[in-house]
Amino acid sequence: MWKMSTDRPAGAPARLSPLSRVALNGPTMGSRWSAVVYTGGELPADELSRAFQAAVDLVDTQMSTWRADSDLNRINAAPVGRWIDAPPQLIDVLSAGIAIGRASDGAFDIGVGDLVAGWGFGAHASPGRSVPARDSGRTADWQAAPQSLEVDPVNRRVRKHAALALDLSGIAKGYGADCLAEAARRCGIVSGLYGIDGELRAIGSKPDGSAWAIALEAPDRTSRGAAGVVDLVDAGVATSGTYRHWRDVGGRSISHTIDPRSGAPIAHDLASVTVIAETSMAADAWATALLVLGPEAGLRLATRLNLSVVMIRESGEQMQHIAS
Ligand code: ADP
Ligand code: MG
Repeated sequence: MWKMSTDRPAGAPARLSPLSRVALNGPTMGSRWSAVVYTGGELPADELSRAFQAAVDLVDTQMSTWRADSDLNRINAAPVGRWIDAPPQLIDVLSAGIAIGRASDGAFDIGVGDLVAGWGFGAHASPGRSVPARDSGRTADWQAAPQSLEVDPVNRRVRKHAALALDLSGIAKGYGADCLAEAARRCGIVSGLYGIDGELRAIGSKPDGSAWAIALEAPDRTSRGAAGVVDLVDAGVATSGTYRHWRDVGGRSISHTIDPRSGAPIAHDLASVTVIAETSMAADAWATALLVLGPEAGLRLATRLNLSVVMIRESGEQMQHIAS
């Protein structure tokens, strides 16, 4: 068991007024969102709940690959070469996805949609062609996003330079958690923990000044236990693991995380990667990126970029870098 802490603003005052703890959740992105907030009762719980639901619904409407009418699927269906208008939140996430794609030397790639489908995952899974004859050679018909997608943030539009299946599943849940936090802030809430399917964002500390203690699941397919605890204050945390989403293909388990450089599902002994970052979006994308890079290259890059990470190998061995 380990424990990792994020910095707390020096001298953050403990509150004197009594605040009540409200826990809310609802459906989103094929999973659930959750929020634990401390409020002075300015807003009734049902109103808060509606504000949170609206925040995640906006993300889903824009970024889902499962909804034919999402803005993302509109871009996916658009002809190559034509400028397509896109809402500002989607522009931000596409830009962040491309930036993290570049910073990870292509390990994270939001253009990975066709590969994900080809290996039998996601909204457009075509498992018929997913059972691989061999582990490579699937790269010919797909395009990396940083080269093929032009984002124009000033005019809020994007243009594809090649046929491209964008997939934001490796980053959108984290972004959604950030949007929950933002919605709470707009309601005047200064202390809360927000999450979608394990991608979390903490705002402030708890009213008594203590951090949000997050137990990290041990990467085990058959049982659930904690591998360690992260104390979170004003930060995001996300975990990607081969142990959570996988398909059994001919006795082999296939991960839904694809290495865009080989075109094949990742195959190494890294069971999970947890990243702590300023936002849940960055933590989410980096967790996926470092999982693709694997134990050695992943830890090297995390160290070089000064990211806080905990990596757990299938053997149970843990490696970490704590940002200075
Ligand atoms: P989880 O936390 O559920 O394990 P991740 O955040 O790791 O999920 O995202 C995995 C999803 O991201 C996959 O289901 C796929 O849609 C997409 N994806 C797979 N490989 C990559 C990649 N190399 N870069 C970006 N997105 C990816
Ligand atoms: Mg991710």
